[in-house]
Amino acid sequence: MKFEFATATQIIFGAGTARSIGNYAATLGQRAMVVSGRSSARYGIIREQLEKQGIASTHFSVQQEPTTETALAGVQKARQAACDCVIGIGGGSVIDVGKVIAALLTNRGELSDYLEVIGKGLPLEKMSAPYIAIPTTAGTGAEVTRNSVLESLEHRVKVSMRSPLMLPRWAIVDPELTYSVPPHITASTGLDAFTQLLEAYVSHAANPLTDGICREGLEHAAGSLLPAFENGSNTAAREAMSLASLFGGLALANAKLGAVHGIAGPMGGMFKAAHGAICGRLLPFVMAMNISALQRRAPDSPSLARYEEVARIVTGKANATATDGINWVQKTCAVLKLPPLSDYGITEADFQSLIEKAQKASSMKGNPVQLTEAELVEILQQAL
Ligand code: NAD
Repeated sequence: MKFEFATATQIIFGAGTARSIGNYAATLGQRAMVVSGRSSARYGIIREQLEKQGIASTHFSVQQEPTTETALAGVQKARQAACDCVIGIGGGSVIDVGKVIAALLTNRGELSDYLEVIGKGLPLEKMSAPYIAIPTTAGTGAEVTRNSVLESLEHRVKVSMRSPLMLPRWAIVDPELTYSVPPHITASTGLDAFTQLLEAYVSHAANPLTDGICREGLEHAAGSLLPAFENGSNTAAREAMSLASLFGGLALANAKLGAVHGIAGPMGGMFKAAHGAICGRLLPFVMAMNISALQRRAPDSPSLARYEEVARIVTGKANATATDGINWVQKTCAVLKLPPLSDYGITEADFQSLIEKAQKASSMKGNPVQLTEAELVEILQQAL
């Protein structure tokens, strides 16, 4: 057995931890690029803390899931201001832009040199600038992953820039920051976390370290997603979802994902839809198709037993079958009021192009079984 495991240099977890960001920033650099979401209120608080440490700062705001243009605008601003470190506070969209900025402050190539699938996919040569990543959603775990997901408007696809050198220096995971997330975003981001844990667990690239993380993360997500959705002030549920999100990031960065993320990447590039909502909608159908394809083509695959284990974890029943697991996911998605894919304007006419792109996606390579074009069409028809 051989495996590697890489993560942020230091992970700080707990309610209120983000309030002491100044302590970590002290050794960060001279001028920080602070990336945040729509509101600049969070920047104001961080700027004050940085000033106390004698660190100047510049602000960049990320309004939605980022395009390559968004990331480039951030890089340009950071380079012009001669920033030497980065702080990202926001959802996965913000964290990912921060990662690209940190990487391109020290690596002088163009973004397209490093992008997978649509770019040259060249490796980074230098460590990214020091980066503090602070998530405000419980979903992506991007604070501990080694990639940034960017949408290419030109190619209508979402692709990654990926390198172990992109791992943040500090990941500060403070569940308090997620208390303000509204129910529909709690639902979509929480389903992203759950899907990442499940796909990494059944992936053929899983290893004993990611396995333990996935089991623990799935238990937290299964027990807390609905309570956090139903009552955003449930601090125990928020904490458990923040933990599940962090664990999902640790798992995906060190194992691979699967067909849900393989399809969600291109779909997110072609249609305006929250990443996690797409993942949740596809998940039960991909689970069912993977199980049936494994039973027919690879009946000895260890992933089959893993689907049963997932079912036992999420239902809490010792005799649960893989089908019980699928039913649990389907019921949960119904309570979370997840829309069908047709609500985003997707039609059968889009399937061909979606599938062509999905088959090239890096996540697809982690799926426990290679799905045929006909099987992918069936999944999309069911999720439509
Ligand atoms: P997001 O960052 O796009 O945020 C979703 C919405 O929630 C936004 O409107 C944002 O303003 C709002 N929001 C964020 N925090 C809030 C808070 N505390 N209170 C109220 N509103 C808040 O969503 P996300 O799901 O966190 O990130 C999605 C992005 O991350 C996608 O682009 C996806 O492809 C990417 N992603 C990256 C990785 C990775 O490893 N790099 C993994 C999974 C997904």
